[in-house]
Amino acid sequence: MSPQDTVEILEHILDRVKVVDPVNTRKWFNDLHIAAFDHGLLQIGCPDSSCAEFLQDHCQTVFTQAAQNVTGHLITVQFIDVSSRPAMQTAVTEENVKRVRLHPDYTFDNFVVGPCNRMAHASCIAISQNPGVIYNPLFLYGNVGLGKTHLLHAVCHEARRQNPNISIQFLSCEEFVNGFVSALEKGSLLDFQNQYRTVDMLIIDDVQFLRQREQSQEEFFHTFNALYNNRRQIILTADSAPQDLASLEERLISRFKWGLVTRLDAPSYETRIAIVKKKAALRGLDLPEGVAEQIAEHIKTNIRELEGALTIIYATARMTGQPLTLEAARQALGVQETAVGKSITMSDIVRTVSEMFDVRITDIQSKKRSQSITLPRQICMYLARSLTRHSLEEIGGHLGGRDHSTVVHACSKIEQMYKEDAQFRTRVDQVAHHITKLASSN
Ligand code: ADP
Ligand code: MG
Repeated sequence: MSPQDTVEILEHILDRVKVVDPVNTRKWFNDLHIAAFDHGLLQIGCPDSSCAEFLQDHCQTVFTQAAQNVTGHLITVQFIDVSSRPAMQTAVTEENVKRVRLHPDYTFDNFVVGPCNRMAHASCIAISQNPGVIYNPLFLYGNVGLGKTHLLHAVCHEARRQNPNISIQFLSCEEFVNGFVSALEKGSLLDFQNQYRTVDMLIIDDVQFLRQREQSQEEFFHTFNALYNNRRQIILTADSAPQDLASLEERLISRFKWGLVTRLDAPSYETRIAIVKKKAALRGLDLPEGVAEQIAEHIKTNIRELEGALTIIYATARMTGQPLTLEAARQALGVQETAVGKSITMSDIVRTVSEMFDVRITDIQSKKRSQSITLPRQICMYLARSLTRHSLEEIGGHLGGRDHSTVVHACSKIEQMYKEDAQFRTRVDQVAHHITKLASSN
């Protein structure tokens, strides 16, 4: 195949992906190239490891289907990192085979700075350029969806750009606690400790998870001291200020305050507009005049929901085949208001799923376990979780008297399928769309 052919094939593949999976499409897809094509394996070269991992995790099925459509051959797509940079270093132990994955979108460039987050942003930049020197530890706190995790990823991206050999451990507090518990069980505490006490930078997200976990607090205390005494950088996030993390040991709270404590606030209207525009540009979407303002007016606190609104507007436009106009955006946001409001009932969900999957309502609500009934039932659980405020127990109770762990399992299974299978995703989106329509006509 000539280089010209590969360029054309990739262009066709990208055209299809854009249509089938606009949610995951990014502008930087234009930087991809075909690195090799041999024995049915199409390797696509990516600018760095985080891009390759993002594509492998979110878009592998869509790209493979597109490549098969475009070429008419049974091809598998694989994404490879063609940069020479080493991936982020973490010790590989059994607990930690899952290496940290940096999200390619979560960079400083893609972070909109406003009065709500200026201090947090500035301190993160300073740290990524000079770890362990200025603010140690850095403690970021704020409500959910205000950009804490985004900033942590950005620090990692930037610190690695400055020093490709820097060793960073970046994990959620839950992973820290689980790793600790499992090291205790297996008698591999020393490995666990080495893994965290010898790095240049330790980043732990959502430390409120340490509440009520006394033994993990003790372990974390010693980890903190070891790193701090060696002037290694520590960055922590939480949903509240150190002193408000009730039931955390006093000696930990006081250490959290040794460096810089900084808060992230909800963004102002202007910042929200800038964020929506940034997110749209990242996805290569053209926003008609006024749409960003409309979204920013509508969603005031959680930035993740701003992005969700953008997705809904585009998905609705695609599903209805209508061009995206300000009016269409308004309507789509109306749909979302219903979706997150209280008006959707369990019976709206069960009824719609029953019709669209052609199974009887009584079967969905029964104990039967055949595959043709289980899957629709699991979809009901997943949709109930995202479209209503019912608890896991209530949802399980309504769907054949199941316990909450069955509902949790169903939700994560459907979420996985939703992520990996574009056709399945379209189908579930259609069901959700029907449910919201049905609920708004109630
Ligand atoms: P938190 O960890 O505080 O709950 P996240 O970092 O997960 O929040 O952010 C939620 C979403 O909002 C992410 O997609 C993130 O990219 C986006 N986001 C948050 N703040 C900003 C910002 N200032 N600029 C651009 N995107 C932002
Ligand atoms: Mg977070």
